[in-house]
Amino acid sequence: MFSRFKITKEDYDTLELPDRVHLNLNQNARRIALRLDSKSKSIRLTVPKGTAPSKVQSFVNKNILWINNTLNSLPSDIILKENSTFPYMGKHITLKVITDKSAKTRKITLEETDLTIRTSSDIYSERLKRWIINDFKEKVKSISEEKSLNIKKEIKSVRVSDTKTRWGSCSHDGRLCFSWRLAFAPYEAIDYVVAHEVAHLRHLDHSKEFWTLCEELSIDYAAGKRWMKENGSELMRYVFAQ
Ligand SMILES: [Zn+2]
Repeated sequence: MFSRFKITKEDYDTLELPDRVHLNLNQNARRIALRLDSKSKSIRLTVPKGTAPSKVQSFVNKNILWINNTLNSLPSDIILKENSTFPYMGKHITLKVITDKSAKTRKITLEETDLTIRTSSDIYSERLKRWIINDFKEKVKSISEEKSLNIKKEIKSVRVSDTKTRWGSCSHDGRLCFSWRLAFAPYEAIDYVVAHEVAHLRHLDHSKEFWTLCEELSIDYAAGKRWMKENGSELMRYVFAQ
């Protein structure tokens, strides 16, 4: 049977989806499905292309309890704000805010375990985020370079990003990329992710030789690898105060 009207993407605009439920139209999907993505703290609603919107809506309505329970059971955010203490590059640091009305620019310094922001206004989150990204980049770059020297391989570049799907990557031509959220992981976990990507400079696979090298390049390979596997998604909990 032919349907008289072809269903287009716009037809799904009328759907009433709860917050944090995202529609994913998929040509290859066989049926409507809901899946939690714990990294982005949202639910993906996969719908085979051409499914009637009314059918999708009734599926969502039928599963609304599951959706709400699942979203409510997610771990809460850890907000980086004045006087909060949080892990940073393997240390526990405390965020101090000094309000100085005469300050022209916001200045951030890290001394021992105090991260201090001097600011003339209460709005500093964006600046703090930028500082963390830049500082992490410098640090992860020097760890990467030190490890790559050990295996006499050259790194083309080190980038940081907010990728939600992987903590690190290595291209075939030696470009490394890390999620800046690693900054909140224990040091051996950061070290393991760096060792992993640097080991890819020699082996672009996950062969036995690769894992042996990865272990050699890590401070504490087993602990770091285990922490990332068991707690990696914890890193998504850190958010900046508004
Ligand atoms: Zn890998």
